[in-house]
Amino acid sequence: MFEKLTYLDHAATTPVDSQVQQAMLEYFSEEYGNPSSVHRFGQRAESAVEESRQRIAAVLGCQANEIIFTSCGSESDNLALRGAASAARKQRGASHILVSAVEHAAVIETALDLRDEEQYQVELIPVDQTGAVNPETVRKMLRPDTAVVSVMYANNEIGTINPIAEIANVCNEQGVIFHTDAVQAASQLPVMVNELGVDLLSLGAHKFYGPKGIGALYRREGTPLQPISTGGSQEFGLRAGTQNVPYIVGMAEALEITDRERSQHNKHYQALRDQLLERVPSLIPGSQITGHHSKRLPNHASFAFEDVDGNALLAALDLAGFACSSGSACKTGDPEPSSVLLAIGLPPALALGSLRISVGRHTTQEEVDQFLAVLPDIVERMRSAERVAQ
Ligand SMILES: *Cc1c(COP(=O)(O)O)cnc(C)c1O
Repeated sequence: MFEKLTYLDHAATTPVDSQVQQAMLEYFSEEYGNPSSVHRFGQRAESAVEESRQRIAAVLGCQANEIIFTSCGSESDNLALRGAASAARKQRGASHILVSAVEHAAVIETALDLRDEEQYQVELIPVDQTGAVNPETVRKMLRPDTAVVSVMYANNEIGTINPIAEIANVCNEQGVIFHTDAVQAASQLPVMVNELGVDLLSLGAHKFYGPKGIGALYRREGTPLQPISTGGSQEFGLRAGTQNVPYIVGMAEALEITDRERSQHNKHYQALRDQLLERVPSLIPGSQITGHHSKRLPNHASFAFEDVDGNALLAALDLAGFACSSGSACKTGDPEPSSVLLAIGLPPALALGSLRISVGRHTTQEEVDQFLAVLPDIVERMRSAERVAQ
């Protein structure tokens, strides 16, 4: 049986662009050398890695030696937090860490692990009801012994965009290392590191039509950073292990395409997103937008519904042919309300009824129309089922 499935979950991952796939192919088969080898197989692989590093650096407006390849966005976040915290403690005895209350698990769980296992003091920076961090709040929370501050560029669950340049400025004034998780943002927002003023910035290729399992950390030259994995001297001694040459080539290709086509895709996304943001609350009583209404990712719409079990809603939507999310791919099957939604002040019962729709390059107007045509009935069915169950 053929059934059309509409993918509306581009915040979780994106398909690999066909040009990206093409660019990667020869590095699996013909050009399989180890970039650390002396012979010509090795030299050619090394050139591919170094050329990719330069292409990524060009998009970020930085030097090639400021790009460290990792295995994913999560690893970039780990290297940033663990590496900066450890260097700051070693250099100046600093062991206070600030991260926003709505960070991705890769940042927040890493900070809590540093607290529990390494005796760092961790404080969560509160956010407003849109999920944004106020730079003045960061200023007030900074201490002389603050080692590192981490605030995400755009939120994966609720789409809210943070004023990163202003927060970076506050940290720079105090000489504190500032990291931003740009894994979700990079598919749509400019990632020029000097305009953002950041010291460290995390990227993950699969959020911008590149392959899964490859990421990068931008590290401003001179920013103290301890390696978290040891072994060979790859990646300037900061990340041991033979580089994933095909995926690195794919990441560079994907980021270049994303950068070149950004405004064109954003226009497409935003037209569809705005229909979702306008029509869902008017079609469905007892629903609200979560996150900021306008300062949010162009492809991202998120909602909370009263008296709806978010996971049951996702299953019903899947049966109807629509792949959506409750917000965070990592929380599937977890009956606890999302900590992000609690941090923006949603009551726990409402936070359990969340829905995220994230459109992509191939999403059509017709698909959004079809989605909007079925959603109200499905929500109503969920609500009657809840009422019967009670
Ligand atoms: C997806 C995501 C990550 C994790 O990236 P992986 O490459 O899947 O490890 C981290 N932070 C944010 C904001 C994300 O959206």
